[in-house]
Amino acid sequence: LSDRTAGFTDSVIRRMTRISNQYGAVNLSQGFPDFDPPKAILDRLAEVAHEDYHQYSITWGAQNFREALAAKQTRYMGRTIDPNSEIVVTCGSTEAMMTAMMTVTNPGDKVVIFSPFYENYGADTILTGAEPIYVPLTPPEFTFDPEVLENAFRQHPKALILCNPSNPCGKVFTRDELELIAGLAKKYDVYVITDEVYEHIVYAPHTHTYFAALPDMWERTISCSSLSKTYSVTGWRLGYVIAPAPIIERAKKVHDFLTVGAAAPLQEAIIPGLRFGQDYYDDLLAKYTHKRDLFCKGLDALGLVHNVPQGAYYVMMDISEFGYDSDLKFCEELAAKVGVGAVPGSSFFREPVNHLIRFHFAKKDETLNDALNRLETLR
Ligand code: GLN
Repeated sequence: LSDRTAGFTDSVIRRMTRISNQYGAVNLSQGFPDFDPPKAILDRLAEVAHEDYHQYSITWGAQNFREALAAKQTRYMGRTIDPNSEIVVTCGSTEAMMTAMMTVTNPGDKVVIFSPFYENYGADTILTGAEPIYVPLTPPEFTFDPEVLENAFRQHPKALILCNPSNPCGKVFTRDELELIAGLAKKYDVYVITDEVYEHIVYAPHTHTYFAALPDMWERTISCSSLSKTYSVTGWRLGYVIAPAPIIERAKKVHDFLTVGAAAPLQEAIIPGLRFGQDYYDDLLAKYTHKRDLFCKGLDALGLVHNVPQGAYYVMMDISEFGYDSDLKFCEELAAKVGVGAVPGSSFFREPVNHLIRFHFAKKDETLNDALNRLETLR
């Protein structure tokens, strides 16, 4: 078997879902909602079953879907996105990121990754043959040292991966930080591959800046995102890459031979969502702000130490007080004995950090309260 696949484990995030299911734990590990997608989308899904959407769509995405997506992203990214030449529709942002990596890098090319990072990026670099250069985001504020970042750029990387808002640490990069990264990307001629799946989950007073919208950055940015989190449809596997036409032309080839295309009926069914007005995004944010506050206050009431995310829907809890050597063991016991699923922080950090675990709060209030009640047994 290939050395390539020997170089990484299965996803610990997804393993923790299986372990949570095994123990009947409240699964706050792999981040996905336990509430329904918007009704307009579900109603359209029921109709689509009886319409003519059961065969392949165009490989880089159905025309209707791309047009609706381009109109929506044009509104939010502040730049006119061409649905024909600047978008590839993928099977989730998971494929979008892999497509972006394969479009931009040759084997042996270096890629800068902030640590902690969403665990797919590690496997993505191994599968593409790229070499990661990790730059720490240091807890508790998850800031980076500009000098350390420039040192990474001095090694002539081909690309930098920017997860903003960040999974797992909930960091929302400030405009100043992004401009600093943009300056380095220009100076050292580096592409920036973004993962912006939490673009609509950014808590006040923080705001989301699309990297591609920064001055001079459109040409070197490959924006990856998904509909999973914005419309609560993680199982639909709808994602996309947005970039300048010459990059998309190459990305279309990668995508075509990787997967041919995303599910045609689902691309059609989600279109009402892409046409929602600003109210929808305001409500989504209000809902997640409420859930963040509910969950964080619940942890506070138990005296459990945690960060407060600026964006996305994850909280990192400090488990130092429990005296475990292994955060994985802590999480296994938490699922088995306390009945709550979490992800060990070590699966996100390059550095030897094993005193943090990640919970997500994309759950009904009653589910979050159930989890908090169970966590009381830690006291
Ligand atoms: N982004 C989610 C998480 O970090 C899961 C995504 C996935 O499993 N594809 O938990």
